[in-house]
Amino acid sequence: MPLPEWVKTQLKEIKKTQNFFKKHKLNTVCETLRCPNRTICYKQPTATFMIMGEVCTRGCKFCNAEKGYPEPLDNSEPEKIAIAVKEMSLKYVVITSPTRDDLIDGGAKHFAKTVETIKKLNPDILVEVLVPDFQGNKTSIETILNSGVAVFAHNIETVKKFYGSVRKAVYIRSLNILKTAKEINSEIITKSGFMLGLGENIEEVYNILKDLKNVECDIVTIGQYLQPSKKALPVVEYIKPAVFEKIAEKAVQIGFKAVVSGPLIRSSTKAYESYLAVKEE
Ligand code: SF4
Ligand code: SF4
Repeated sequence: MPLPEWVKTQLKEIKKTQNFFKKHKLNTVCETLRCPNRTICYKQPTATFMIMGEVCTRGCKFCNAEKGYPEPLDNSEPEKIAIAVKEMSLKYVVITSPTRDDLIDGGAKHFAKTVETIKKLNPDILVEVLVPDFQGNKTSIETILNSGVAVFAHNIETVKKFYGSVRKAVYIRSLNILKTAKEINSEIITKSGFMLGLGENIEEVYNILKDLKNVECDIVTIGQYLQPSKKALPVVEYIKPAVFEKIAEKAVQIGFKAVVSGPLIRSSTKAYESYLAVKEE
C-alpha cells in the first residue's frame, strides 16, 4: 500500500535531520533509539546529543549501550556540537552521555565544556543535561551546575528492587545526585525519569515518585520500556495508556511541577514544555 502524503512529509523531515547528523558525524539519542517522537522534536526544534562516545562502563540490562572500555575523549566534540546546534537553530537541547567510570570526574568537565561552548555560540539556547551518577562525586555535580544548565536531570530508570541486578547503579546514590544538585543550587530545575514494563508493581512505582519528591525533584517522565535489542531484557508487560494516566495523576498529586507520562515518552520528550511549566509556576 502506498504511503499517505502526510507520512511521506514526516519521513522527509526526519531524513533531512538524519542527513545533517550524518554529515557532521553526530551521535544522537534520537537516532540511536529511532525515537518515535522524532517528527515532533525535529520540528520544535529540539534534539538529544550523546557525548563521550557510545561505550558505557556499566551495562544495565535494559540498555543497548555497549559495555566496555571507552575511547579517550574527543576534545573537538564541544565545538562540533555547538556548531550543529547553531546550524539547526535549536532552541532547546539535551546533552547526555554513557556512564564513564574510567574518567576521574566521570566526564563532568567535558559535559561543562560542551554546555559552555553551546551557550557561547548560541546565547539564547536552553541546555538540559541528563547526567550519569558520577559515582556520587559532588565536585562533578558542582562543575556541571556552574556551566549554566537550565535543567539538571538524572534518571532513576526503574524501581528500587531492580538496582544492582538490572540497573547497574545504587538507588540511594541516584536519588542523592538530585538532592545534591538542589543543595548546591536551590534554583536549579531538577528532573528524573523511569520506565514501566520491566516487572514492577504499582506500589513500587509510587515509591519512586515519593522518593523523587523527597529529594525535591521538579519534573518526572514516565515511559514504556521497549527492548532495544535481543541482548537486552525482554518486555515483561506493555502498560496500558490508562495506567500511565493514573500514575501521572498520582505524580501531580504528590507535587511534581511537570509530569510527562505515556507509552512513547522518553526522558527528553516535551523537555522544553516541562521547563516552561516549572518556570511559569
Ligand atoms: Fe530525541 Fe528525546 Fe525527542 Fe526522542 S524525545 S526525538 S530522544 S529529543
Ligand atoms: Fe550505561 Fe546508562 Fe545504559 Fe546503564 S542506562 S548501560 S549506565 S548508558
